[in-house]
Amino acid sequence: MKKEVTVLRIGHRLVRDDRVTTHAALVSRAFGASRIYMTGIDQSVKDTVNAIDKRWGGHFEVEIIQDWKSVARAWKKSGGKIAHLTMYGINIDDTVEKLYKEQKLLVIIGAEKVPREAYELADYNIAVGNQPHSEIAALAIFLDRIFEGKQFKRDIAGGQLRIVPSEKGKQVEKI
Ligand code: SAM
Repeated sequence: MKKEVTVLRIGHRLVRDDRVTTHAALVSRAFGASRIYMTGIDQSVKDTVNAIDKRWGGHFEVEIIQDWKSVARAWKKSGGKIAHLTMYGINIDDTVEKLYKEQKLLVIIGAEKVPREAYELADYNIAVGNQPHSEIAALAIFLDRIFEGKQFKRDIAGGQLRIVPSEKGKQVEKI
């Protein structure tokens, strides 16, 4: 069975976070997740990501939600597990073996201080090192570990353009 990974980003500071929020969605998409739930954003992030899907392929979903707790509880009820990324958690290298076995994962990342309930609802509180950095860096490392780097070789169907990897310059072909 294919691993199903969805990201849940809690919080968004209007204007200040706009670029980071879009990047959280783009990294989720490019690193193998199939959907991101986001709170506090407007339609523009969804439109940007949809335009990228149309151009480069895939069916990544951006869902704007109001109540992250009910989404997280429903996820657990449907048999999924939750991994919350936090500098206070257990080092990723000490949990990765267990994570490989999970087939349905919701990955929680924060934009600012994350409510206590996220730590309690999580099956895994995972640190990508115990120093503070960024939710995008933490997410990228986490997805790369659980997909073991294979996400970059997968086929992404659809789209209008495809890159022909080249050592120099840019080569793009129309599909
Ligand atoms: N004090 C926060 C914490 O609990 O990790 C740092 C807030 S940081 C601005 C925003 C988000 O980045 C956090 O909610 C967390 O998801 C992620 N993050 C930052 N550093 C991390 C680390 N070392 N390991 C895992 N996630 C991290």
